[in-house]
Amino acid sequence: QVGLVWFRSDLRIVDNTALFEAATRCDQLIGLYVSTPMQWHEHHIAPIQVDLIRRRLPILRDQLASIGIPFVFKEVADFKQIPQAILDTVKDHGISHVFCNKQYEWNELQRDDNTGHQLAEQQVKFSAFDDCCVIAPGKVLTKKGEAFKVFTPFRKEWLNLFRGLAPSPLPMPDSLNYPFEKLEQSDISITYPPADSMRWPVEEETIRQRLVTFCYEKVEDYHQHRDIPSIDGTSCLSPYLALGMLSPRQCLAVLLAVSPMCMDEPEGGAFSWLNEIIWREFYRHLLVAYPSLCRGQPFQQWTQNVKWQPSSELLSAWQHGLTGYPIVDAAMRQLKQTGWMHNRLRMITASFLTKDLLIHWQAGEQWFMSQLVDGDFASNNGGWQWAASTGTDAQPYFRVFNPTTQGERFDPKGEFIRTWLYELKDVPDKYIHQPHLWPDSGKLNYPKPIVDHKQARLLAIASFKTAKDEY
Ligand code: FAD
Repeated sequence: QVGLVWFRSDLRIVDNTALFEAATRCDQLIGLYVSTPMQWHEHHIAPIQVDLIRRRLPILRDQLASIGIPFVFKEVADFKQIPQAILDTVKDHGISHVFCNKQYEWNELQRDDNTGHQLAEQQVKFSAFDDCCVIAPGKVLTKKGEAFKVFTPFRKEWLNLFRGLAPSPLPMPDSLNYPFEKLEQSDISITYPPADSMRWPVEEETIRQRLVTFCYEKVEDYHQHRDIPSIDGTSCLSPYLALGMLSPRQCLAVLLAVSPMCMDEPEGGAFSWLNEIIWREFYRHLLVAYPSLCRGQPFQQWTQNVKWQPSSELLSAWQHGLTGYPIVDAAMRQLKQTGWMHNRLRMITASFLTKDLLIHWQAGEQWFMSQLVDGDFASNNGGWQWAASTGTDAQPYFRVFNPTTQGERFDPKGEFIRTWLYELKDVPDKYIHQPHLWPDSGKLNYPKPIVDHKQARLLAIASFKTAKDEY
């Protein structure tokens, strides 16, 4: 029988559950990718992320060809048109079974439900597998059988299960034998605004080497370096994990090969990195347990009452790195120019928008998504709700980051700031976090702080307190 493997955010052939399962059940397989530019616009997907997909697909196509699986590329406007695109492919190639890996976001689940129903009407089987987490959503539960709302007990249970399962990556499937002359290889052409993702290699071996090099050379110091944006101390694997060019199981297999005891050494760098992978899982599990998160709801319902203060002027200053707070501005320029931002800076800039400017977290969530090469709904929504104090296990609303002291602490000499804010290159270290206080600041082409942090902090705390009291 002929099967169809429908690729979405799992653009790899190693450790791909749907592909592996399909290869064990079918004699012949076809791979499919359907781009949906209008849907991506609606989801604010960044052009740089789409460019990464565009560059990766030919590699996926060639890898599949090397194991006897031809590849079909299609483009439709949005998810509504997906079922028809799949039905057409099924009809064209006499397919009896469609395989894919689950995506847990609300629109994606609806899309798959619709597709599954329409395929069932044609007597075509549809199988969706858990794949993008090491431990599938719904499996890490409290003693009462409920989803965890707090990270630390989630992690404890996750680690218990992980020790028992020790899941390891699935191999690439054995070569199949599709008569290629029956099918012309499709051209890959995606209609989306252009962007340049060349900074991110897409070749299998290069990505794997990045993982291996990180685990062998950097993970040991990860806990000490991970908060310093001027140090190249994190893995920079997030774009690959977001698009499934790499799986979290592959990451953990290498991590455990290098540091087999890391699960029992919570003070070490390897555990600290594992911890971040578990945060990634936590946010995905939350989406499944609380689907309202996908529909713009805050986790803490009382925060619906917060009186945000929309301001297109302040939002624009934040987006373009013109707030007068150097660590915030350097970070926002890094994002705009590269499509990536360091985690500590994501926390600082998100806190600044939601607390210092009291602008709704969704405006920030959307802007990040529209810029990030690693844009990922679960992690982005989770990160924003954490910083805005609207999420589960979030930063308490009365603990507001001070952007100046955050800069002093995590970029003491202003190395990161000077990399991205060329206009501050001559400012002495002493003033790099508050350039408006430098006696020579008159000659700087750089804005004064757009808000006074002390006052803004009090206002934010008062707004949150009122919202909570009134709930
Ligand atoms: P490393 O430090 O090397 O961590 C390894 C992997 O663990 C990452 O690649 C990522 O997949 C995962 N990870 C690390 N930190 C977190 C975290 N706090 N939450 C969830 N997963 C994590 N991450 C995204 O992948 N996509 C996003 O859209 C995204 N938006 C964010 C928005 C905000 C406001 C915040 C505070 C965080 C966001 N993160 C997001 C999480 C984190 O900032 C990035 O995953 C990390 O900076 C990526 O760099 P890295 O690959 O070097 O991470």
